[in-house]
Amino acid sequence: MKLTVVGCSGSFPSADSACSSYLVEADGFRLLLDMGNGALGELQRHCGLYDLDAVFLSHLHADHCVDMCGYFVARYYRHDGGRCASIPVYGPEGTEARLTTAYGDTPSASSMSEVFDFHTVKPGSFDIGPFTVRTERVRHPVEAYAIRIEHGGRSLTYSGDTGPADELVELAMGTDLFLCEAAFTTGKENIPDLHMNGRQAGEHARRARVRRLVLTHIAPWTDPQANLVAAQSEYDGPTTLAAPRDVYEV
Ligand SMILES: [Zn+2]
Ligand SMILES: [Zn+2]
Repeated sequence: MKLTVVGCSGSFPSADSACSSYLVEADGFRLLLDMGNGALGELQRHCGLYDLDAVFLSHLHADHCVDMCGYFVARYYRHDGGRCASIPVYGPEGTEARLTTAYGDTPSASSMSEVFDFHTVKPGSFDIGPFTVRTERVRHPVEAYAIRIEHGGRSLTYSGDTGPADELVELAMGTDLFLCEAAFTTGKENIPDLHMNGRQAGEHARRARVRRLVLTHIAPWTDPQANLVAAQSEYDGPTTLAAPRDVYEV
């Protein structure tokens, strides 16, 4: 699998990065995990506008899904003629209604369904193209999911947004690459069931015995190096900070 960081800024875009969005490719299939603010523009550095085969939305906070409104325009009013065929979009209950409301004036309440084939995510296993995926509910103020993606005997696990969660440790167990949020600063912020800090991300990686940890969803006002050091105090495997346009072969 090839993982490309499209955007990794937490909560709002930075000068250097869009919000959460990660492109996962294998066998010519392109699955996008989240499409936060600014991601649609950045995505076009990595693939054509119409080259996505499926989208997974971890939850419906704007920094993970709002660029789907722009993507609706691109697919619905396609400039070179005709409307795009629908692609599967996996998201929590209410994804279509939420995106339709965010857009504001779609031609009808079901217009989004003409270009997106919405599937409601629940905890469980299913296939997306060539990938076997498993989703697990995580701890966040809204319904939110982490996802484990497997292909060819390799795996990557994306936390989405979550506070500390044993369910996430279980989902990520033995994974080759753990893309884990570390939004909070250790010792500074500690709001239950919202986000993790670097130390907690490292602790989850250690307990899940992952092979590699990539920290993400760090807000522009947070010192990423402090979060990296905090994670490394708990986990001694390879640990890096996600950065836009980084590519990982998994
Ligand atoms: Zn977020
Ligand atoms: Zn969130």
